[in-house]
Amino acid sequence: MKNISLFALLNVIVSLVACGQVEKPKESKTDNKFEIVKTEDEWKAQLSKLEYDVLRNEGTERAFTGKFVDWKKVGIFTCNACKTPVFESNTKFKSGTGWPSFYDYIKGNVLEQSDSQYGWNRVEVECRKCGSHLGHVFNDGPEPTGLRYCINSVSLDFEEKK
Ligand SMILES: [Zn+2]
Repeated sequence: MKNISLFALLNVIVSLVACGQVEKPKESKTDNKFEIVKTEDEWKAQLSKLEYDVLRNEGTERAFTGKFVDWKKVGIFTCNACKTPVFESNTKFKSGTGWPSFYDYIKGNVLEQSDSQYGWNRVEVECRKCGSHLGHVFNDGPEPTGLRYCINSVSLDFEEKK
């Protein structure tokens, strides 16, 4: 490991207590396994820097900074990269973690990938259409699923139900 700066170390510490992780070397997600495939340059042009860091590099926004943490509107949350519907507002709950939390996702539109980057098993949550990183899922959610999908606000967009 080289180039470890104090900033990087702080990032690791923050991420260990958070629900996300620091960026890690990972093979490109533009490998045809998803329906929507773009080059990283195309994603960079489309997304803000923070959106790109989270969606394409598995970064994590800071707790309590995202616009959907206390969001109460009724409608559908979509993937902020490709606008595929990924969560419904009626599965959103108040987790107190500082990230929007859901107990279920819209079937068929979300992919769960095991992630053992830091020596314990976590499950990463991705958009099934474009492979973008949404967040992680944990086993301490409410009924009926007992799951907590801990999702970055910047990974989401919202369509209000009229
Ligand atoms: Zn997507």
